Order: sequence, then C-alpha cells, then structure tokens
Amino acid sequence: MSGSGTGSKVDRVLAEQREYIAKREKGYRERALKLYPWICGRCTREFNHKNLRELTVHHRDHNHDNNPSDGSNWELLCVYCHDEEHTKFENQVQYGNRAEKDIQPATFNPFADLKAKMEKGSK
Ligand SMILES: [Zn+2]
Ligand SMILES: [Zn+2]
Repeated sequence: MSGSGTGSKVDRVLAEQREYIAKREKGYRERALKLYPWICGRCTREFNHKNLRELTVHHRDHNHDNNPSDGSNWELLCVYCHDEEHTKFENQVQYGNRAEKDIQPATFNPFADLKAKMEKGSK
C-alpha cells in the first residue's frame, strides 16, 4: 500500500474487476453448457454453435456469486425467456411479496403522516 490515491489506480482496479466478472461469467457459462443440453428451459428452443450466443445462463436464486459445481443454481435460457424471467422476478420484489407485507404492522400507513402534514400546511 503506497497510499497515494491516483486516478489511474482506480481505473486499474475497475479494469481488474471487469476482467474478473467477465472471466467468472465465461467460466460458469462454459461449465453450464457442458452440463446441460443446449435447450432453453422455458420455450425449449434448441441451440447449436451458430446461435449459441443467444443461450444464456440464468441463476435460479438470482445470485451470480452462487455457482455450485453441480450446476444446481443454473438454468439455460434463451435471451428472450431470460429477460422475461428477470422482469417477473423484479415484479415479485416490487408488488407480490406477501411476506414483506406481513412483517409490517397492520396499522402502518405511509400516507397517514403525509395527509396530516398536508392538512397542517393548508391552514
Ligand atoms: Zn426461450
Ligand atoms: Zn438470470
């Protein structure tokens, strides 16, 4: 550690991180392609060397750092189904998570306070 904070050092760290992510991605993609048949897990479209670029590795638990060697967290999806899968997941997080609602007290109302503030302000 030299302690001199230069911009180029940050650039280098960022470049290394990008490289690491790219390598990691390439690593699990190759492993997943060896492990599973080249078929989209949703629309069952088949792939070959020509269009393999469109077959992607999806992480079932949406954690890209969770890459068990038996491939249990991976699913091969075409780019379209992969996109849909993530949209679905994001919607679940935003709207559909019942457990999250249960955690909050039943009396919690984010607008109650706002209403009170507005009434005060109008006078
Ligand atoms: Zn598909
Ligand atoms: Zn995914």
